[in-house]
Amino acid sequence: MKTQYICSECGTIHPITLTIWKCPSCGGVLDLLKETPSVNPGVWKGYPFSIWRYAESMAFPAETRPWEAVSMGEGQTPLVQLFPGSSEVYVKVDYMMPTLSFKDRGAAALITKANELGAEKVIADSSGNAGTAIAAFAARANIECDVYVSAKTSPKKVDQIQAHGAGIQKILGTREEVAAAAQRAVEQEQVFYASHVYNPYFFEGTKSYAYEIYEQLGRAPETVIVPVGNGTLLLGVYYGFQELLVNNLISHMPKIVAVQAANCAPLAQAYEMGAEIAEAAPAEPTLAEGIAIAAPARSAQILKAVRQTNGTFIRIAEEEILSAREALAGRGFYVEITSAINYAGWLQYRSEEYETVVIPLCGAGIKSS
Ligand SMILES: *Cc1c(COP(=O)(O)O)cnc(C)c1O
Ligand SMILES: [Zn+2]
Repeated sequence: MKTQYICSECGTIHPITLTIWKCPSCGGVLDLLKETPSVNPGVWKGYPFSIWRYAESMAFPAETRPWEAVSMGEGQTPLVQLFPGSSEVYVKVDYMMPTLSFKDRGAAALITKANELGAEKVIADSSGNAGTAIAAFAARANIECDVYVSAKTSPKKVDQIQAHGAGIQKILGTREEVAAAAQRAVEQEQVFYASHVYNPYFFEGTKSYAYEIYEQLGRAPETVIVPVGNGTLLLGVYYGFQELLVNNLISHMPKIVAVQAANCAPLAQAYEMGAEIAEAAPAEPTLAEGIAIAAPARSAQILKAVRQTNGTFIRIAEEEILSAREALAGRGFYVEITSAINYAGWLQYRSEEYETVVIPLCGAGIKSS
């Protein structure tokens, strides 16, 4: 079966082209219509030690090896006991990546696709880390790149994006207005929209997070803590473990415990109300700038994934964020402020003592002040 796009709303199938980024019929977000991969761990060692170790599970044509042009060794991050000697709580050090955040997993896959489609220019919008990752991998692949960011984005993240030669478009307005400006430019210039939110190839990259945990632990953990704004790590984790489960490599799905900032928690709100989609939240400012998404486009999929794994949502108050960052640094792990919320989420969640849990450290400490 040839991989195609399928609309998550109306089910219409669309060919994969350079310029399509949402359903032309109804505006819904697109998913990949593809064969479920048959996963054979025996072949992994024949591939690069990066996310491309799992290339045979990823929806790219087998006869080409496009990843070599755009890979920078992303993925294969350490899984470390948070409390030395205790095999219950692990951190996955996903800030050990080329651009210092987990977004490199998805950006490598997305720019690989853009490259395969012959893109000469891509446009992205981001609260910071996704834009940095897209800018870096676009530079690697020699593709021109514009990144739309909020005027409030951390100066360090803006510097990092510009260092890769990408154009910066600063938009005064909400995260949604930033995205809208990028989408207008995509339509006007007819270029590839390198969106971590809309383009499902991003998940072909982020699902490697689950594959790596499986390899590192030799099984699935009982629980994974996952921060959620747009859900690009969360959905990747879900798809990855699903693929391992249907291939009988793991015996159960880990519970997904999703963490949001209390000041911007549309998904937690919908979950608690039993709703199938999230209403746009009246967002107040939060220190966790990387997950401050008031209207996540894939809310239905995120809510379904958490419910299907018997997971839950956790809200973290502002005053817990900085102390969680200090506590992690006190154990040797210096994360950006947004990432401290993952640890705060675990602190709030840890009720059942003997379950194995993995906490992601998504972004490096030097990214925020
Ligand atoms: C992007 C990001 C998140 C959240 O990812 P979503 O895809 O928006 O759910 C969490 N932490 C950090 C550091 C990020 O960069
Ligand atoms: Zn549709």
